[in-house]
Amino acid sequence: MKTIENYINGSFKPSTNGESINNINPATGDVYGTIPRSDKTDVENAVKAAENAFSEWSNSSQDYRSRLLLKISNLIEENLSDFALAESMDNGKPLHLATAIDIPRAASNFRFFANAITQFSSDSHESQGRDTINFTLRQPIGIVGCISPWNLPLYLFTWKIAPALAAGNCVIAKPSEVTPMTAYLLSQICKDAGLPDGVLNIVHGYGHEVGQAIVEHPKVKAISFTGGTATGKAIAATAAPMFKKLSLELGGKNPNLIFADCDYEKMLSTTIKSSFANQGQICLCGSRIYVEESIYEKFKADFIEKVKQLKVGHPVHDNVNLGALVSEQHITKVQSYIDYAKTDADAEILYGGERVTLNDYPKGYYMTPCVIELKDNSCKLNQEEIFGPVVCIMPFKDEKQGLALANDSRYGLSCTIWTSDLNRSMRLSQQIQAGIVWVNTWLNRDLRTPFGGVKQSGVGREGGFEALRFFTEPKNVCLDFAP
Ligand code: NDP
Repeated sequence: MKTIENYINGSFKPSTNGESINNINPATGDVYGTIPRSDKTDVENAVKAAENAFSEWSNSSQDYRSRLLLKISNLIEENLSDFALAESMDNGKPLHLATAIDIPRAASNFRFFANAITQFSSDSHESQGRDTINFTLRQPIGIVGCISPWNLPLYLFTWKIAPALAAGNCVIAKPSEVTPMTAYLLSQICKDAGLPDGVLNIVHGYGHEVGQAIVEHPKVKAISFTGGTATGKAIAATAAPMFKKLSLELGGKNPNLIFADCDYEKMLSTTIKSSFANQGQICLCGSRIYVEESIYEKFKADFIEKVKQLKVGHPVHDNVNLGALVSEQHITKVQSYIDYAKTDADAEILYGGERVTLNDYPKGYYMTPCVIELKDNSCKLNQEEIFGPVVCIMPFKDEKQGLALANDSRYGLSCTIWTSDLNRSMRLSQQIQAGIVWVNTWLNRDLRTPFGGVKQSGVGREGGFEALRFFTEPKNVCLDFAP
């Protein structure tokens, strides 16, 4: 049994109330540890620690903070296999994925912002004829809250914490209670790296208890949140009247627009990944697949053939493409959409969607990847975020109809366009309602680029200097140098 503890003021502690929550391994369905069920008192202690640490940390040099973040990055890399195993065990994702993507990316996040803070500059405006110059100070906000989801646990947690710390803030962070293990390992590494006490505090527990306590604490001045749209709405309802700075990275229902003139083989193999990587539990997965009429039947046959070859199995086993879904609650939700597809006249399940019982792990949360053909885009299967290994396919006649289908959604996170027509790719990129457009690729991220969505996929941008701007307050200084 692994006992996870809070990291407050540089010390490892259980929750003050002594309560805990079971941590379940989704690959086996067994409890394998406990995490603190923290509450307001723990958040209050974390805020006090952050308050005490803030003056020294925010006044330290960029160089000092940069070196510390680089040390944390190196320690994550040195402990890659422990981190990857913990992530796979907590989340159910294939170990090879955690080893190749999640953990290296978490280390890159720290390295990236360690370097970015040394290059971050602010504006200066000379008012000619008035002998004044304006310059903008970029000051840390103070104490900030970082709340992250379970699908890419350490990857998304560090994507917030690293820029917040680099900019000189003190942080109260909460990972999802479903996947707390790598956040705990990170706290141990921060201690080893010599991060001053109170600069980063990690408080574990339920969202509606400890998450809510972070959001409503008056001394927490900004909230960076990644998670579902409904949770984002609840957080905004609490934080907005308190005039907190908010960054909300929310749900998605991303379209794939596939044209007949695309590089077919590249499109096919990438579409398999964009559909089912991490069991379809990536906010950027392309779960709405629209295919130009002339290649629709061919695509349908080839795609299903490839989907049939995907192997569902225990995440640490070799050659597994899909591991376990994250929890019993989540697989039940995903299965409810499959049940709906069985009864809806507009939907036909072409392949998969069955619960899988592995001989050695009968209580694990496994299912076969599912492909559904839809007749009507307004069907809830194409309008609601399922967030599992389920994609819906539909044909379109021409570019105009394809674009209309892609934009017919309340979400607007990302879109993937497959075409060899450069002019078309530009036209569509301009008109697609999304924060991120990929042309002939998917999940191809340069950490300097802005990341985020429009419509109900969120407010604000993370990534590159956008994140450093979010985690700093601009203050304009106007200096009169008239003789
Ligand atoms: P949730 O919204 O359920 O939870 C996200 C985090 O918020 C968790 O740590 C959760 O804690 C916490 N939380 C829940 N309620 C509150 C509250 N009232 N106040 C403060 N914190 C709270 O999302 P999931 O964890 O289920 O993650 C999946 C969702 O995340 C999907 O919708 C997906 O699209 C989205 N996502 C968006 C991304 C983006 O960049 N746009 C990237 C990745 C995922 P607890 O776990 O205890 O409930």
